[in-house]
Amino acid sequence: EERPAAGAVPQAGDASLILLRRIGVVDPSSLDDYRAHGGYTALRRAFALGPSEVIREVTDSGLLGRGGAAFPTGRKWRATASQPDGPHYLVCNADESEPGTFKDRVLMEGDPYALVEAMTVAAYAVGAHKGYLYVRGEYPRALRRMRHAVDCARARGLLGDDVLGQGYAFDIEIRRGAGAYICGEETALFNSIEGYRGEPRSKPPFPVEKGLFGRPTVENNVETLVNVLPILTMGAPAYAAIGTPGSTGPKLFCVSGTVERPGVYELPFGATLGELLTLAGLRENLRAVLLGGAAGGFVRPDELDVPLTFEGTREAGTTLGSGVVMAFDDTVPMPRLLVRIAEFFRDESCGQCVPCRVGTVRQEEALHRIVERTGTDAADDIALLREVGRAMRDASICGLGQTAWNAVESAIDRLGAYE
Ligand code: NAD
Ligand code: SF4
Repeated sequence: EERPAAGAVPQAGDASLILLRRIGVVDPSSLDDYRAHGGYTALRRAFALGPSEVIREVTDSGLLGRGGAAFPTGRKWRATASQPDGPHYLVCNADESEPGTFKDRVLMEGDPYALVEAMTVAAYAVGAHKGYLYVRGEYPRALRRMRHAVDCARARGLLGDDVLGQGYAFDIEIRRGAGAYICGEETALFNSIEGYRGEPRSKPPFPVEKGLFGRPTVENNVETLVNVLPILTMGAPAYAAIGTPGSTGPKLFCVSGTVERPGVYELPFGATLGELLTLAGLRENLRAVLLGGAAGGFVRPDELDVPLTFEGTREAGTTLGSGVVMAFDDTVPMPRLLVRIAEFFRDESCGQCVPCRVGTVRQEEALHRIVERTGTDAADDIALLREVGRAMRDASICGLGQTAWNAVESAIDRLGAYE
């Protein structure tokens, strides 16, 4: 099978990388190659430490979830492991669908055994014997490579009844998504695996207590899990020394739009947005940068010194989300872009709750009227957008509806989109 497109990772081959170090270097189909490049040392250390100590290491590392919400991973693992009634499940969320996000795809295509190993470590830590990997339907190559890696790992005793001869049973079942953005929401994803409509459940109860099949479940993003390997091989203190105290470790950023070298970049948390864009080859006439994807927000060209950390972006009134960095120069018609974002949310709303089902339609209609100048007064439509946006944010069941107004709001307030 062909090697991953190293072009997706402009830094490919850089020996100082942590998460991307094998991308474009190893043969993703070869378990032997993976082992020759350090594979399975983290799982060995996990077995030597025992489940509780593994959770302690992950907690001490300060690892925060990389799917976008930055929840402390160690806390999630501890809460799941402490539930008395099993079976416990592990679910890896590889339904990467946030517009502008493609880091998990690169990890799965370029280093699939790392995810198999990381899922095994996580399962061992929380006492799960079954793991599900839910891969986005539009990622056929990632799916193919993950299936191959899981099959090879099983054939070589790295999955199955007696992993690494340590007496621990764990296996992975792969599920393929069918193209719905909402199935990346963890509880909609559980419903999808269980054979129901992909509609989010109300939280609480959180999955740590009542998740897949109503059992205690750890649900982690691909990048989150892959971070567990360096935490175990370098140790929590060394890992926690990377980045900032509030956002530890390395982070993958998906840079796209009007830059010379789009792709996935790895930087320690704390680098500034300007530094990242310089690496990616920032073009002239930058008009705006969308941080965090469609659910995120825009920042202006005079705000490029914002530190790329969860706390830094929060303080700056925006969000890092899953690491989307989309640059737009002044050739991009912003009002049309906002209509496109609104269309996306209207299309992807599951329709289960009124604020989101109706609000995303009203938002799109108002933006169309403003762009096409078919309304009586743009100011009235902006006022309507604010009212609808507030209702969606306050009353929607899940993150989709709660964030569907973020990008439009930031474009109006930070960029003066319709002035
Ligand atoms: P959330 O804040 O509700 O939850 C984050 C995680 O923490 C979940 O796993 C949740 O179960 C857990 N959690 C939260 N509080 C808990 C508690 N008290 N006890 C135990 N566990 C708890 O966020 P969310 O709705 O799951 O995710 C929203 C994020 O998803 C957004 O930030 C967005 O950026 C991101 N997102 C990412 C993609 C992508 O493709 N990567 C797509 C869409 C959205
Ligand atoms: Fe469905 Fe939207 Fe409600 Fe989420 S907020 S449950 S996507 S209708």
